[in-house]
Amino acid sequence: MSMLPPSLLRRRSLLPDESLPSLLMRLAKANHYDPPSIVIGLALAQKGEKEYYTDISRSLSPPILERLIALTKIDLLALYSSTYHRFAPTITPPDIAIGYLELTNNIAMPLFTGKIAQSQLRPEFAVQFCPKCLRSLAYHRLIWVPVAVSACLEHKCLLINRCPQCGKAVKIRDIIEAYCSSCKASLIETESPQVNDDKFGLFSQQVIQSWFLRDGISHSALFSVPEQPVNALYRFIDGLRMALMQVKSDWSYLHRLSMEMQPTSSMVKMKAQTLTPYQSYCLYATAMKSIVNWPESFYDFLDAYRMQPTKGKQINHSVGYDLGNLYYNWLEGYWQNPIFTFVQEAFNHYFVKQYSLKHEVIKSGRYRTNRELVKRFSYITVMEATDLLHTSPEMIKFLVQIGRLTKYESLDVHKYLRLDRSEVLALQAKWLDSINLDEAAALMGVSIKVIPGMVRIGLLVAEQSPPEGFHYWRINKSSVTGLMKMLDERCYEMGKNRPLVMNLTNASRWSVTKSGLDSAHLLLQATKGLIRIYYEKDQPIQIRNLLFDRSDIEESLTKFYAENGWVDRKEAIKLLGIDHLTLTQWVNSGLLTMHNYYRNCHVFDRNKIEEFLANHVRSKAAAEILGVRKSDVNLLAHGGFLKAVSGPSIDGNSCHIFSREALFQWKNDWLTYKEAAKLLGIKERMLFDFAKRGLIVTLRPGYGAKPSGETRTWYSRQSVLGLQENV
Ligand SMILES: [Zn+2]
Ligand SMILES: [Zn+2]
Repeated sequence: MSMLPPSLLRRRSLLPDESLPSLLMRLAKANHYDPPSIVIGLALAQKGEKEYYTDISRSLSPPILERLIALTKIDLLALYSSTYHRFAPTITPPDIAIGYLELTNNIAMPLFTGKIAQSQLRPEFAVQFCPKCLRSLAYHRLIWVPVAVSACLEHKCLLINRCPQCGKAVKIRDIIEAYCSSCKASLIETESPQVNDDKFGLFSQQVIQSWFLRDGISHSALFSVPEQPVNALYRFIDGLRMALMQVKSDWSYLHRLSMEMQPTSSMVKMKAQTLTPYQSYCLYATAMKSIVNWPESFYDFLDAYRMQPTKGKQINHSVGYDLGNLYYNWLEGYWQNPIFTFVQEAFNHYFVKQYSLKHEVIKSGRYRTNRELVKRFSYITVMEATDLLHTSPEMIKFLVQIGRLTKYESLDVHKYLRLDRSEVLALQAKWLDSINLDEAAALMGVSIKVIPGMVRIGLLVAEQSPPEGFHYWRINKSSVTGLMKMLDERCYEMGKNRPLVMNLTNASRWSVTKSGLDSAHLLLQATKGLIRIYYEKDQPIQIRNLLFDRSDIEESLTKFYAENGWVDRKEAIKLLGIDHLTLTQWVNSGLLTMHNYYRNCHVFDRNKIEEFLANHVRSKAAAEILGVRKSDVNLLAHGGFLKAVSGPSIDGNSCHIFSREALFQWKNDWLTYKEAAKLLGIKERMLFDFAKRGLIVTLRPGYGAKPSGETRTWYSRQSVLGLQENV
């Protein structure tokens, strides 16, 4: 059993938020221990009275606590709460186990392990303080211990960490005495910079201090912080603070106070504990900017960080170059712990957005090892695409060339070819589902010769085809099975009343000559239900086993044509009253257009034929329109004086065909002698005289033939009108 020290004669209780060293220092003073460390010696059970100064909190253990209770008569939990170990849950990184101090059988309290406290907390021989707080009561507050704390929230001023007169570090004993032990300058009289007007800086301090005190106070509604564990948020902000210690003081994104303060330029290689409160205040406030509107605020932070003037070179280089330590030490290092998932997710989003078309990204470890990121990443290299499609880089380039893949270029000098991952994956899925011609032919039971035709009219889908420039055909397997399913549904089992049937080969041989429908077209008609297909019982449904009824094909076609307002060649000839040869000539000359529904299949729109018939007339009707004899019409047409669209001298058609429009035009241009004489108001004899003297232009198609009176002469309306003006 260890000997407990007797209690001190004059006792003091803990003041609000007082630190343990502060209490011990006050007790030493009250009990006239000189040096005051004797009290600590008693607590630590040290022999001898030499000045022995140690960090009592760091050596905290159950026996020491017991001795402290004996000395001070203060409650166990109150004593524990006056030590900085209270901050361990906030400060300890998530990948390091927090130590625990067994207070009693049932109570264990958090304890700092290793050297974490050293880099995060100010030591007892270089503390910071608020002069106004000291003025009300001279003791050391525990909240002043963390490096991240830099302002007094009560007095809205920065803390002070140097003697205002000699500039030396301030010890806890100086705080109790309220003057500098080196130069005797008053600490109470020190001027501390006010930060009343700095809303954001104060907000940052409020948040950080509440993380330490774990008071759960929610802060200003002006800003919000992500709903994440306090230690994750603290470690994130603290990591940013460390990265920020590397930036130059003229970086515009840095949080600043309007007053002249110590420069922040020389923080590189500085230890956290030696930061001035002003430096700490600005650094943590700057870091806090990144989380107040998560995640956009973080993207802004990263943008600003990348564009620091210190780099001097172009940004958009590579993520490692742009973000340096922040990337390598933090994003790729400490923040890989799952507790920082919110940071990684936000960063991945930023990474994809800012760097997705950059060559370095695809080479980076983050991209290669992060499956989630890869999935979200839109752009990939040719090599990745090659792997995904099991093909060659040449094929990838070919696919880009024919427009099957979209080309992107990396945003660097190299301009590497980049591809859209989702596009490549879509193609991969299709390719995996494709089969070659032999396989497709076997599945369907057709000759491979038929397949290209089936693709052409859309019965099947080709994933690769020679017409596109591929070496081989690859047919979409689903389109094959889909077609077979459709044919299966349309199939009739051959009943007792067997129609006269033939297989596809024979049916197409017959129908090609008749209507231009080849096997592919017959199948297309069958899938549409326009031609019936039959199968023999017990025969597998294969295209080669399908049977077609000739009369059914004929009937279906007639019906199908009627429904669409189509006529076939035979019908067209009948309607137009011409022969085969003339129809061919008309089609070739463009006088009549064919419907382009089927290749090789002469289908005409009935409407078009009727329209043609309405606009065109034969010689007899033409004679009526012109008011001349039929023989005159033919004479005019032969001589080329009246334009015909068809006729013996034009296309070998046995009779002339004229457009009504041409006839009306002719009738407008030429007058009979009676009409001409009447228009001029002269006798017919005078008209003939005028014509003889060449005063009127005449048309005499019967030239050379025996003149048969003036009936075969026509007079130009234009010249008659010209003469009328002169008469
Ligand atoms: Zn204060
Ligand atoms: Zn001093």
